Amino acid sequence: MKFDQARWTRETPEEGGEVYEPLLVEKSSRAVETDDAPLPDDLTRDGVELPDPAEPELARHYTRLSQMNYGVENGPFPLGSCTMKYNPSFTEDVAALPEAATHPDRSTDSVQGNLELRHRLADSLARIGGMDAVTLQPPAGAAGEFTGILIAKAYHEQNGNDRSEIIIPESAHGTNFASAALAGYEVVSLPSADDGRVDVDALRAAVSDDTAALMLTNPNTLGLFEHDIEEIADVVHDAGGLLYYDGANLNALLGRARPGDMGFDVMHYNVHKTFATPHGGGGPGAGPVGVVEELAPYLPTPQVREAVSDEADDGEAASDDGEVSYERFAPEHSIGKVHGFAGNWLVLVKTYAYIARLGDPGLRDTSAKAVLNANYLASQIDYDIPFEPFHHEFVASAGRDAADVAKRMLDYGVHPPTTKWPEIVDEALMTEPTEAESRAALDHLARAFDRAAADSDEALETAPERTAARRIDQADAARNPRLSWHALDDE
Ligand SMILES: *Cc1c(COP(=O)(O)O)cnc(C)c1O
Repeated sequence: MKFDQARWTRETPEEGGEVYEPLLVEKSSRAVETDDAPLPDDLTRDGVELPDPAEPELARHYTRLSQMNYGVENGPFPLGSCTMKYNPSFTEDVAALPEAATHPDRSTDSVQGNLELRHRLADSLARIGGMDAVTLQPPAGAAGEFTGILIAKAYHEQNGNDRSEIIIPESAHGTNFASAALAGYEVVSLPSADDGRVDVDALRAAVSDDTAALMLTNPNTLGLFEHDIEEIADVVHDAGGLLYYDGANLNALLGRARPGDMGFDVMHYNVHKTFATPHGGGGPGAGPVGVVEELAPYLPTPQVREAVSDEADDGEAASDDGEVSYERFAPEHSIGKVHGFAGNWLVLVKTYAYIARLGDPGLRDTSAKAVLNANYLASQIDYDIPFEPFHHEFVASAGRDAADVAKRMLDYGVHPPTTKWPEIVDEALMTEPTEAESRAALDHLARAFDRAAADSDEALETAPERTAARRIDQADAARNPRLSWHALDDE
């Protein structure tokens, strides 16, 4: 494929043009000599073409690419449930400390600081969630769910209970259904009551000796608090089932309410949604899992604990010089490993930095502002919001194609909300501004909502006009991803 110089420049939308940034291999390349390669012949290739741009070209290439994208550092990004909150840069500094970059196989003695950080982070998360023990190993929210369900399964099996079903409200995140099915369970889908919450009578009818767990999000994906949560917990526990809390998004609860106090037995945390670590384009992330004491023996291995020195058999954690030390251990009935070593360690360092910097008052302030911002934004836009009172997010109905409205919002310089989910709201725009936005940013966002709503059908159908790429085929992009520039050769 030849690089076309004309495509450097941006064509006007009327000409149907899109901004095109050539790949580095299209701009320059040279064949690399492999004659002297210190590798066996069958592992080397001749004439491998590698780009060799000068440094200014390289810098401009990546700067242009970054300008074609929209991120939370460009403006508001109110993606409901996904929570795209601003990632404060001091956490990057902490993760870049040389002491953080240790090989995971290093001896316990030489990484005491790292182990202490893991222990403290697990402890903080346990306190925030009202849990007794936490694993940091799962690499994403969905991986945390899967881990949590495997723990529930191991627990039931260990107690001689063969349970085959997991109950999930129909408004739950899609990963809940996938995690339960992947762990070998039949999924029983629970319809919502008219007020958008769990229908407790329907739940009573659904539980049985086969119920392994109920998976619940609270506040749910409509932003509504399940005020019958204690009754719900009793129904599930009385049937011998466990309560799984989808804690991907704890932004309404931080410092105010804890899943453990509501009766939940196992939960996951999405540090990229609640504790301001980057989403990272699909990974690496972290989805720690918290459990109550009864489930702690099933956690993945290794866990970290304070080491008990030989002399101090009174259970006090102390090393020879009187300082606490830390060690790794395998929980008694561990489900094994769900990721290598400590999971995505540097993401966990950022998580710890964020929690430590905010402290308890800061976390409490976060949930206050998250809820305030969602309610302020909702009060400023001219849309129908069928379910109230909501907390950190709300679901507006677009009244027309929600995807078209979302595309138009891009033209007004903001990222749109999550669209068409949950399905319980017609043409849903699920909106979560996050605590990090100022009033001015929220007003800007509100204007984008209302301008898109006021636009003609034609303007909506052809939107976006002002972005680097226009309407892309989203399904094709997901189903037929071109993961290498070699795919361009086929065009
Ligand atoms: C994002 C999300 C998940 C899944 O988390 P990932 O880190 O994307 O795998 C699960 N449940 C809810 C409610 C979510 O918003």
